[in-house]
Amino acid sequence: MEWFVERYNGSGLMIAVKKKIAFADGIQKVELYETQSFGKMLVIDGKIQLTEFDEPFYHEMLVHVPMNSCKKAKKVLVIGGGDGGALREVLKHEVEKVTLVEIDRNVIELCKEHLKIENGAFEDPRVEIVIEDGRKFLESCEKFDVIIVDGTDPVGVSDPLFGKEFFELCKDKCSVFCSQSQSPLIQKEYFRKMLLNSSVLENRTVFIATIPTYPMALWSFIIAGEHDFRYVRRKFKKITGKTKHYNPEVHFSAFMLPEWLKKEVENAK
Ligand code: SAM
Repeated sequence: MEWFVERYNGSGLMIAVKKKIAFADGIQKVELYETQSFGKMLVIDGKIQLTEFDEPFYHEMLVHVPMNSCKKAKKVLVIGGGDGGALREVLKHEVEKVTLVEIDRNVIELCKEHLKIENGAFEDPRVEIVIEDGRKFLESCEKFDVIIVDGTDPVGVSDPLFGKEFFELCKDKCSVFCSQSQSPLIQKEYFRKMLLNSSVLENRTVFIATIPTYPMALWSFIIAGEHDFRYVRRKFKKITGKTKHYNPEVHFSAFMLPEWLKKEVENAK
């Protein structure tokens, strides 16, 4: 049995793999594996991006928390997300247009051909795909109702998606903003950087979710702008039965932070 090992700051995760299905080496090293127990697995630059086993946990929280927190969500921008999972979830809502800005064409092509989690999202007539750096795209794009950032770790090509100027640009380009913000436990340097840089956003709040195949399984997200719990139950009615993980109770409880995390967020105001 072969093992894929991801190490992080003295911890690690081992996933038994049957075989490597596909590989591309462009601006990032993109690999797809068939695992023994968790379905297919996407790895970019040696970091697990998703497994079929728990990608719905992540993509449903990343997308339905902001989408169900805002009054109007007709025009949506997804930055990153080349695997199609976030796009699939956005299209469960009554959206008019979704723009996906992905820097690495290889991710889309490998995932379309071998992973197939997007359920046809890439071909949906409401979707526009742009192959570009998300930070650069923001400089001259239109306004959106919701911006969702589904980037890789804040190193390499993802780094611009965690900078202060990125959040400054997002501030004027959307009503509600949401981004994955790494592990608040074992990636404190990334998480703190994200907290500090995103403090320019109005009403910036943190929520958490358990994503078993991410480092130490506890993952964080930031949401900002005109988000409000009051829309959640009504909006959930439109996607009832279409989620594997997300529901209003999970939504509300995601914002109930433990003391140590509350203090981290307070200190980064
Ligand atoms: N769920 C994963 C996580 O939380 O780590 C992220 C998955 S998704 C595959 C990350 C995507 O972000 C990749 O396809 C990568 O190519 C894309 N990406 C990284 N930096 C980017 C940038 N500056 N602009 C647009 N897309 C970017």
